[in-house]
Amino acid sequence: MQSNKRVTYWLILISAALLLVFTGVLYLQFHHSRLLSSTVQYSESNVSWNVFQLQSEALRFNNALYTAVLDPSSMDMDYLSLRYDLFYSRVDTVRQNPATEQLLEGTDYAPIFQRIDAFLRNNEGYFTQDSQQPLDQAVIESILKQLEPLQASLNDLSLASVHQSGIHAEHRASEVQRQIAISTGLIVFQLLLTLLFFYIVIRQIKQLQASREDLSQLANYDPLTSLPNRRLFLDRLGQEIRKAHRTKDRLALLFLDLDNFKDINDTLGHEVGDLLLQEAARRLGECVRESDTVARLGGDEFTIILSDLDDTEHVASISQAILKTLSDPFELDGREGFVSASIGITFYPDDANDVNALLKNADQAMYVAKEQGRNRFHYFTASMQQAAQTKMHLVNDLRNALANEEFQLYYHPIIELATGTVHKAEALLRWKHPLRGIIYPLEFIPIAEETGLIIDIGNWVFHEAARQTQRWRQQYQPAFQVSINTSPLQLRSETNSLEHWRRSLESVGLPGNAIAIEITESLLMDASFTKRLVAIHDMGIEVSLDDFGTGYSSMSYLKKFDIDYLKIHKSFVANLQQGASDLAICEAVLVMAQKLGIMVIAEGIETNEQQKLLQAMGCDFGQGYLFSHPVSAAAFEKLFEAHTLSVQVQDLG
Ligand code: C2E
Ligand code: MG
Ligand code: MG
Repeated sequence: MQSNKRVTYWLILISAALLLVFTGVLYLQFHHSRLLSSTVQYSESNVSWNVFQLQSEALRFNNALYTAVLDPSSMDMDYLSLRYDLFYSRVDTVRQNPATEQLLEGTDYAPIFQRIDAFLRNNEGYFTQDSQQPLDQAVIESILKQLEPLQASLNDLSLASVHQSGIHAEHRASEVQRQIAISTGLIVFQLLLTLLFFYIVIRQIKQLQASREDLSQLANYDPLTSLPNRRLFLDRLGQEIRKAHRTKDRLALLFLDLDNFKDINDTLGHEVGDLLLQEAARRLGECVRESDTVARLGGDEFTIILSDLDDTEHVASISQAILKTLSDPFELDGREGFVSASIGITFYPDDANDVNALLKNADQAMYVAKEQGRNRFHYFTASMQQAAQTKMHLVNDLRNALANEEFQLYYHPIIELATGTVHKAEALLRWKHPLRGIIYPLEFIPIAEETGLIIDIGNWVFHEAARQTQRWRQQYQPAFQVSINTSPLQLRSETNSLEHWRRSLESVGLPGNAIAIEITESLLMDASFTKRLVAIHDMGIEVSLDDFGTGYSSMSYLKKFDIDYLKIHKSFVANLQQGASDLAICEAVLVMAQKLGIMVIAEGIETNEQQKLLQAMGCDFGQGYLFSHPVSAAAFEKLFEAHTLSVQVQDLG
């Protein structure tokens, strides 16, 4: 933009300079042509002709006077006066020509004309109108005597003028040649300047056009894949909708997201990830017609507009072809990469009429495809719309839930299996929605994570649990411990949760070991977590690895991190029976945990048999509906007061 402005200034400057030069050139040409014309005006041939006429007139006057001398009787005074006057006027003609002096410069012109003037003055009286008396012979002879030398001088002058005019003519010819040469030079110069100017202007216009094309390329196309970007895609979708509306046709919008693309980026690096995206874009282009649009919205998200559809079945076969081509291995800089895709499909006008709604539908359908196991396509349905709307309302309500004090913690007893006593409980969050009643965490925690609200909610949970634990320690059990669920987002370095927890513990006067935090295995993959784990332990807080067995479950992580408790996920406990594979898994986990000095809590104990088996294996703690459902703090206090916080330890015999 800046450089365009500069170029425009330069163009204006050059134009102004050229205008100045052109004006100067025109002025010079005008000036020279005037010089030329004045040279012609002061034409020397005029002067020499005038001098010749004067010489002839002098001769005629002389002849007339001679005739009067030879034959005085026939003397005609009128005729003599006429000849005198004509001579006189010829003298004037010569003198009045402005070129005379210039041409006759260097001759005797001036003294001759002085003498002529003297002659005219002396004899004027004889040739006036009044004196028509015939002249004396003596007078005529005297006039003739004066006239003769003048005649001789005029002859010389006439010759001199002819000579001078020759020289001047030559001079003028060369001057004209020079003028023509100058004018031609100036015109050529002018022409060259004009050509140069046009060359510059045309080049500039081309550059501007090119930079405009570059800008439009940047504004409308994704630089990595050269596919239309979000902006151009939205524009095209709008156009296709209008076209389909006119022609009463149907169109399909596909929203495609690569599965596990993040893993490629994390393991092979972003450059290899870029190569994969380029190749994926190329493969997508091969699955559709020329008239269809494939666009990249960003990251690993692509959209495809299939227009002029006469058969919706066709969309399924295209989607199938896309899934197939994307699941073929990718050759990436000497390495092989694998991805799959999840595709959401929506139709105009069946599902929605406008760009935004179609995009939202396709996006929702894509999420369902992901949820159902990825590497598949899913059509948009009205129930998805319903679910999306419910979620939207939930998001809005969740924003106000903290301020409206709609959250409550329930406590789930953790039983020491060997003794049947309870010294621990897990705090579980409940949302008492004013219209919907109790909402369970599995429904709203993911939304809280998506919206970032989990940080404030998590801080509230910690503070509330700490406050409650302090109360119970004082009133009932001095060593009571509450374990708190955390989201990985809370433990990211920038959220500063640790600081908040420290202040909570201080404000209620609770030692760190009164609290255990439950983290999930995915957090252990984050290299920077080691440092924070040390800080957590420094505060005295214990750490539980929740839902063990459902994530990466890498033994090496367990060894590397300082974990206090390991919670076996309830799905393993649910299938516990003699001879079942889950029994073997639980046994293996227990053996490994014992070796590493980690205590084990089994979740989801619902039957006596499960309890017995776990007890027999030496599992430290158990949690489950067999003992109690999670209960409110008030209900939990009743358990304390009734001294029922112990359960019958099953007879292992
Ligand atoms: P979790 O930490 O694994 O908690 C155990 C879940 O299993 C609880 O569900 C509990 O009610 C349920 N449960 C306990 N015993 C049994 C049993 O015998 N049978 C069956 N079928 N279920 C049992 P809940 O309360 O719905 O919590 C679900 C998940 O929500 C929790 O799983 C935890 O990951 C998360 N969550 C709960 N509270 C919080 C919280 O304050 N913050 C965060 N970030 N997550 C929380
Ligand atoms: Mg838990
Ligand atoms: Mg759990």
